[in-house]
This record gives sequence, C-alpha cells and structure tokens, in this order.
Amino acid sequence: MIQIVSRPAAPERRECGSCGMCCKLFHISAVDKPAGRWCRHWAAGPGCAIYADRPEQCREFFCLWMSDPTVADAWKPERSRIVLSIFPGNGFLYAQVDPSAPHAWRKPPYFDDLRRMAAGLQELNRRVIVFVGENATLVTPQGATPLGRMSPDENFVVEPAFGPDGPTFRVARGQSSGA
Ligand code: SF4
Ligand code: SF4
Repeated sequence: MIQIVSRPAAPERRECGSCGMCCKLFHISAVDKPAGRWCRHWAAGPGCAIYADRPEQCREFFCLWMSDPTVADAWKPERSRIVLSIFPGNGFLYAQVDPSAPHAWRKPPYFDDLRRMAAGLQELNRRVIVFVGENATLVTPQGATPLGRMSPDENFVVEPAFGPDGPTFRVARGQSSGA
C-alpha cells in the first residue's frame, strides 16, 4: 500500500475541487480499494460519499500540487493524470500516473518539469520516480531509465553504477512500509 504523506495543513493549500485522482490511483486498505481503480465511494460531482467518515489514510493525504504552491497549475492531478507526492521512507518524489493515461508524464510540460525536479533533488541524494502501476522509471536531469517492476510502497534506494556501456542505476530494495 502506498504510504500516504502526512502534511500539516498550510493556509495557502489548494483545494481538491473536482479532482479525485488519488481516490483512483492509491491502494486504500481501509476501504478495500486496490491501486489504479476508482474507489467505490467516489463519484464525479459529489466526490467521496463517505467524506465525513473517510479513513485516516484519506484524511491525511495532500498531494504535492495541493500542498506546494510552487507546483504549477498544470500539475493538478485531474488535468495532468499524475499525482505527485514525497515518500517519507526515502524522501523520493513519486509521480504516480493514471494507468488509463500511461504516457501522460512524457507530455509537455510534465517530463521537462520532472527532469528539473530531479536536478534539484539529486544534490540531496533524492530521486524522482515515475510509477505507472508497478512499472517504475527513474527520471534524471538527463532523461529516463526504466527500473522494472516495484511497488511505490517499497523503501528503496537508487545508486549509480558504472559498466562497459556507461552509467546505469542499481536499485536496492528496503523494507515495505507495510499495511
Ligand atoms: S490528487 Fe491531490 S488534488 Fe486530487 S483529490 Fe487527491 S489530494 Fe486532492
Ligand atoms: S474513501 Fe473517499 S476519500 Fe478515500 S479513496 Fe474512497 S472516495 Fe477517496
């Protein structure tokens, strides 16, 4: 299950409005919702039918578009089809893509923005990972490198490696965040 990021409410926080993309993309165990499918409690228009009683996991999640005013409007998840969040286990920036629009992250302005974000984070040894389901891709300032199958809830590190064909990346898996 994705470890949803808990953030303090900020006065400048954006409103979800008609977006409900996290209600599709994430695994929410408390309502028995698999990743990548709309929650049975979600409906376009009214939104969450159990809003007052929604699970804590839902209450505590604020995507990066919502919580960070420096993230451009174009990144609103219902428009971009991408939910940005910071994974607390490793500080990586995760871009989780709607499996119904698996190439959305390659389109402008998203890929270029992801590369810029990767450039800003790499000094801190933090990475930008795109997930389409459990298909992971590392984004660096130079481009994109497929990492293979892994779950967003895995606490992993990505290390550069050097071989005869030039620089590559090695993924070292840690422990799952559980639930
Ligand atoms: S993806 Fe972000 S903006 Fe959309 S419903 Fe979830 S928290 Fe709100
Ligand atoms: S319970 Fe409500 S807030 Fe949580 S995933 Fe389902 S529709 Fe979204």
